[in-house]
Amino acid sequence: MNMEKLKKLPKVDGILKREEIQKLCNTYPRWVVVEAIRRVIEEKRRELLSGADIAVSEDSVASEVVNRIEVFAQPSLRRVINATGVVLHTNLGRAPLAREAVSAMASVAMNYSNLEYDLSKGKRGLRYTHVVDLLKKITGCESALVVNNNAAAVFLVLNTLAREREVIVSRGELIEIGGSFRMPDVMTSAGAILREVGTTNKTKLSDYENAINENTALILRVHPSNYRIVGFTERPSLKDLVALGKKYSVPVYEDLGSGLFVDVRSFGLPYEPTVQESLKAGVDLVSFSGDKLLGGAQAGIILGRADLVERIRKNPINRVLRIDKLTLAALEATLRLYLGNDLKKIPVVALLSQTEEELKSRAERVKALLEERLPNWSFDLVRDTSAVGGGALPEAKLPTWCVAIEGDCLEVERRLRTIPKVPVIGRIKEDRVLLDMRTVREEEVELLVEMVERALR
Ligand SMILES: *Cc1c(COP(=O)(O)O)cnc(C)c1O
Repeated sequence: MNMEKLKKLPKVDGILKREEIQKLCNTYPRWVVVEAIRRVIEEKRRELLSGADIAVSEDSVASEVVNRIEVFAQPSLRRVINATGVVLHTNLGRAPLAREAVSAMASVAMNYSNLEYDLSKGKRGLRYTHVVDLLKKITGCESALVVNNNAAAVFLVLNTLAREREVIVSRGELIEIGGSFRMPDVMTSAGAILREVGTTNKTKLSDYENAINENTALILRVHPSNYRIVGFTERPSLKDLVALGKKYSVPVYEDLGSGLFVDVRSFGLPYEPTVQESLKAGVDLVSFSGDKLLGGAQAGIILGRADLVERIRKNPINRVLRIDKLTLAALEATLRLYLGNDLKKIPVVALLSQTEEELKSRAERVKALLEERLPNWSFDLVRDTSAVGGGALPEAKLPTWCVAIEGDCLEVERRLRTIPKVPVIGRIKEDRVLLDMRTVREEEVELLVEMVERALR
């Protein structure tokens, strides 16, 4: 039987003449196409020799070649559909940018810009000026600096203000966040001497006060980000820490982690302190990420006392950690949206503030489309909860609606994740793959359905 098939194996020349293969030759070098054809034919020959029952028509070889070349040609870093429901998914690129931010980036990327050129004076300027006034307007801060990311901001603040000197921090705040950022290790590598006070669950103001000595450079407050200590707990308020710092002339620096300009309780989320509240409490410096709840590009934002910010800016390491022009363009555009009257132009804000009804109706539509296109599969509507992610609000549970795919969940998950073009990343719950509508935007619905169809057909 297979001897017959072996004789019928298509020839390279025959495949090359086909229309869909000619099209490939217009886009890719001919040798790449010929190589792919050779390889597919050779693989088929081997499978036949080992007794496998496979199709060997020209059609099957050609479509395999088209597939191979599509996979070969796609970029390594590419778009995916986030159907996990985790809004700030660090592995999936955290915050998607607003249109305004993307177009600002494109314009600066494709052209020359006034990145470090003062147009009014016709002289060299500072790249930071493009965002400093905006940050002042939004937060009321005295001065500002932006760097590559918040990890860099923490490092730079400590290295500038506390090299070879002591930094007092509560044992309850010596956290590790994703990507092996461990507070004690960052402090040590910045050259600061860690002075731990209190216990894991309880740290009193007097613990801080007792640790202050002539070598104290900084009191550090760290947002616990991705974990919570509950039960028998205590830590001084930011106001009390600030008063203590004033009494001994020791600056207080808060690493706020996510960083927020708006009260998220309006999105039905638990209370989170805003940047403005920290500044109002009187901290000398505060830093936070640009691409967590703020919804901008990867950046670290440092706000606070002008004299301290100036020292940090002049630290030679700032040159190593400096923000690049594309990030700056995206950040400026995002900050401008915070001054406007439609915060929903910021995708993270829009994703977080979706109502359960919107999500349910999207889930129903996706389910109906999938049932129509994949009649051999069955789907279900599931009410569940999605997460904020990005180390923010670990306890928040956002009500959401998902489409569940019935079938071998590991196989379904693998197929969705490995589709060429736009992979779909879902989540598994109770042996089913769920597509959470919280993170699938309205304009992605059609693409999602097409990709799922491709993966499961
Ligand atoms: C996320 C986070 C950081 C690091 O910020 P990146 O922008 O990811 O570098 C530092 N500190 C805290 C408390 C965080 O939550």
